[in-house]
Amino acid sequence: MKILWMYHNLMDLYGDKGNIMVLKTRCEKRGIPCEITTCTIGDQVDIDDYDLFFLGGGADHEQSLIFEDLLKRKENILKAYENKTSFLLICGGYQLFGAYYLDQDGNKIEGLNIFPYYTESSDRDHRCIGNIALEVSIDQETFKAVGFENHGGQTKNVATPLGKVLYGHGNTFDGGYEGFVNEQVIATYMHGPLLPKNPRIADIVIKRALAKRSSDITLEPLDDTLELKAQEVMLKRLKVSI
Ligand code: GLN
Repeated sequence: MKILWMYHNLMDLYGDKGNIMVLKTRCEKRGIPCEITTCTIGDQVDIDDYDLFFLGGGADHEQSLIFEDLLKRKENILKAYENKTSFLLICGGYQLFGAYYLDQDGNKIEGLNIFPYYTESSDRDHRCIGNIALEVSIDQETFKAVGFENHGGQTKNVATPLGKVLYGHGNTFDGGYEGFVNEQVIATYMHGPLLPKNPRIADIVIKRALAKRSSDITLEPLDDTLELKAQEVMLKRLKVSI
């Protein structure tokens, strides 16, 4: 599995790199070779060579540093998308695949406009911060997931959210839905604990990525006792049924 880790040195909040570590570990435990390539501003890379495009979250400052470089790659991103590369986008990365992000100071950061959602910041004193629990619906599976969010941006016009909010905020303060999903994209406000505490999502990401180059993918089950225990602790703390 070939992962392209975009702006690894700039877009990496709240343990987002843990998601990469989980993907590598879960592949290696199954004997699937996993190659990770980093790409930052100005680096030459053909995104279509990769099975998975990963972009983490970032503060407004980092988003304003990377967005022009990201926009230059739009054609390449669309080519990769057409050829079945899959995408995992976290928070600031999620926002930048929409039409735009209006930051707290009123600066408009142009997005790739690949999907019709858009994000506008709430005022300085109001951010969606804290633990979050969802009921995720993805690839014909429905299950609970836990994570951590910290964003001012309120994302609207999301036609197909990743899940229903059981605790926390999600796309907006109280809209009740979180993230965006389609057959190739998982975009979410949940940061670094996303894959470590949600092994089902991790395996969906792996399956989708491998689907770029193979039509028959069955993943050998792993022992997820610890991961599920960590998830259970959080669900209990948030008083969400398991
Ligand atoms: N800067 C964006 C916001 O506050 C994204 C933050 C993040 O990636 N955690 O909405």
